[in-house]
Parts: sequence; C-alpha cells; structure tokens
Amino acid sequence: MKRVALLGATGSIGRQAIEIVNAHPELELCAAASGSSSLDDVDVPLKQVGGDLTELLERAQPDVVLNAVVGFAGIHATLWALEHGVDLALANKESLVAAGELALSAQERGGGRILPVDSEHSALYQCLQGRDPETVHSLVLTASGGPFRGRSRESLAAVTVDEALAHPTWRMGRKITVDSATLANKGLELIEAHWLFGIDFGRIEVVVHPSSIVHGLVRFRDGAALAHVGYPDMRVPISYALAHPDRPATPVAALDFSGALTLSFEPPDLEVFPLLALAREAGEGGGTFPCAYNASNEIAVAAFLDGQIGFLDIAATVEETLGRVVGAPARDLHDLVEADSEARRLAARRLIAA
Ligand code: NAD
Ligand code: MG
Repeated sequence: MKRVALLGATGSIGRQAIEIVNAHPELELCAAASGSSSLDDVDVPLKQVGGDLTELLERAQPDVVLNAVVGFAGIHATLWALEHGVDLALANKESLVAAGELALSAQERGGGRILPVDSEHSALYQCLQGRDPETVHSLVLTASGGPFRGRSRESLAAVTVDEALAHPTWRMGRKITVDSATLANKGLELIEAHWLFGIDFGRIEVVVHPSSIVHGLVRFRDGAALAHVGYPDMRVPISYALAHPDRPATPVAALDFSGALTLSFEPPDLEVFPLLALAREAGEGGGTFPCAYNASNEIAVAAFLDGQIGFLDIAATVEETLGRVVGAPARDLHDLVEADSEARRLAARRLIAA
C-alpha cells in the first residue's frame, strides 16, 4: 500500500489524481490540501485548506507527495519531499524551475526521488529508463503550439482571456493554459527538463507538434530516437508517477490507427512567442534568473487573467524584469524567496507603469 499526500487536490491535476487513486487498490490518500477551495467532498484522514503544507506533510508522513499546487507556492512541499527522502510526484514545475540547484542539493542530502507528472517529462523519463547517459544525444520536448499557433505578433495584441484559455488539446488550470498560449509553459518545461535529467540547454530542443500525440523524444548517439506516444490525457503520467514501478491499467484508450493518424512537427516561432527564448536565456544565465522568470510570469499572467494587461504585455513584463534583476545564485531558501519577491515587485511596478 502506498500512502499519497495530494497537494492541490481541487485543481485539474488534483481531481484526476483522486480518480487514479480511487481506481487502484494499492494507492491510498493520506492527506489532501488546497489553496482556498473547499475539500468537503474529498474523503481523506487529514485535510487542510491554505496554511503551511510542510506541517501537513510532517503529520501525514506519506510514501509519496503529489505536488499539484500551482506556482511558486509549491516550493516548500517540493523541498520537504526531497529533504525527507520521500518520492515526489511533481506536477508543480514552477518549484523545480525556481529552486534548481537548491532542489538538487536537497535531493542529494535526503535521497528523495522525483517522478515527473508533466506529460513531456514523464515521456522523457520513460524513454531514458535504463539508458547509459553517455549514449544520449539530445532531448526533444513537444509543444502543441497553443491556441495562437501560426498567428502574427500584431494579431495577438488584442486577444481576449477566453481566446487564450481555449487550448486545442489539453483541459487544464487557468495559469498553465495561459502559459501554453504564450509558450512560457514550454519555457518552464525546458528548465524543468534541464534539472530533471542533467542535460545542457544546448541539447534540449523544443518542437511544435499540434496534435499532442508524441509527448517527448530522446535522440541517441547512434542515430536512433525513442518517442513516447499516446492520446493527450494527464491520467497516464499521473498514474505512472504514483504507481511507479508498476504500470496499472487506466481508462485511457490505446492508440488507434484504423482512421488515418498524421503526425506533424514544425519549429516554434520565437519572434511571436518570445517567452520560450527568454526561458532559454534565463536557464543558461543560471542563478536566480529562472526564479525571476517564473515569478514575473506569475504576476503578469495573473494580471492578464484579471483584464489589467494585454497578452503581449506578459512577455514584455518578464523581459523587463529579467533585464533588471541581478540573478545571483540563492545560497538557501531564504535567498530564493527573496529573489522571488524582488522579481514580483519589479514585475508589479512595470504593470502599474503599463
Ligand atoms: P489548478 O489551478 O487547476 O489547481 C491548482 C491547485 O493548487 C488547486 O487545488 C489550488 O487550490 C491549489 N493551490 C493554489 N495555491 C495553493 C497554495 N498556496 N497552497 C496549497 N494549494 C494551493 O492547476 P493545475 O492545472 O491542476 O496545475 C497544477 C500544477 O500542475 C501546475 O504547476 C501546472 O503547471 C502543473 N501541470 C498541470 C497540467 C494539467 O493538465 N493541468 C499538466 C502538466 C503540469
Ligand atoms: Mg507539459
């Protein structure tokens, strides 16, 4: 029996995770948390709305933490699991992007294992299982391209919140859906992949693949590439991360080729979607640049969702913030929280000026 602490239980990932846990007799919820929404309908011994997630984890002593909180708020739970040698099923990519080296050193001390829930990283993790790192040539992250694929920059100035929330292939929370429309989500995933797999940014490529059937590819030095394919459904990577090393059945259909299935790929448009290029720069800059990238993006996305700024202002806010921060590495969590707050302040100031 594996005892699961589910953080972000009322969200898109959280709800699907409850379905997976309920379907598998070897999984059991021991704790659930949300930010502000009620957990009345969740049947679990320990629950908490708001408050300190690490206190809940201390009480619950889970075998696996599924961190499905949105944003930097997930940082404490990520570090807690890694420090305590508890398996971390990680959906909350923002924490790994922001913490980078701190997360890896917590993992080195505590021995916590990261099982990626992000579909692309789950795909890459599976393609890399049992491979000698020396044989790996490069990683390929696929991106749907979002609702604005193929659009010109000018045409994006006046897009509405509803248009940005109309994702072609995935149903997700609002923040990640906007990130998918700006390609900031793929930018965060690029940095996430760097930390998860220890591969240089120069060897991680992003390719646009509109149907989201191929979730990730690993190219090897002999010219072979392994891909992970399947219908876009988060229950697959959630189940994989929670049940690892088992691969229990899910209600997701097997790939069907009886109708035609065409897979297409194209390079991302970095001019129209500058947040992808900015993520690469922030990742290569290292230190707290990725933390500032994430923090300013969180502020800008919240302002866009609130109708305070336009779609193109999201990238402009992140770019300006990155140009102003020092990016010095964080020695500890206190430094990191300070870097996050500073980037939020700078981004918020820019919003007022806009
Ligand atoms: P969501 O907005 O649907 O849900 C977020 C959850 O986090 C809610 O339960 C909310 O109450 C909780 N929460 C927010 N702030 C909190 C806090 N301070 N303390 C405790 N709980 C808090 O978001 P989502 O789409 O489920 O995404 C969650 C995470 O998973 C994000 O990091 C996202 O990038 C990642 N992710 C999501 C998907 C997807 O398909 N939804 C896919 C890949 C990765
Ligand atoms: Mg993803």
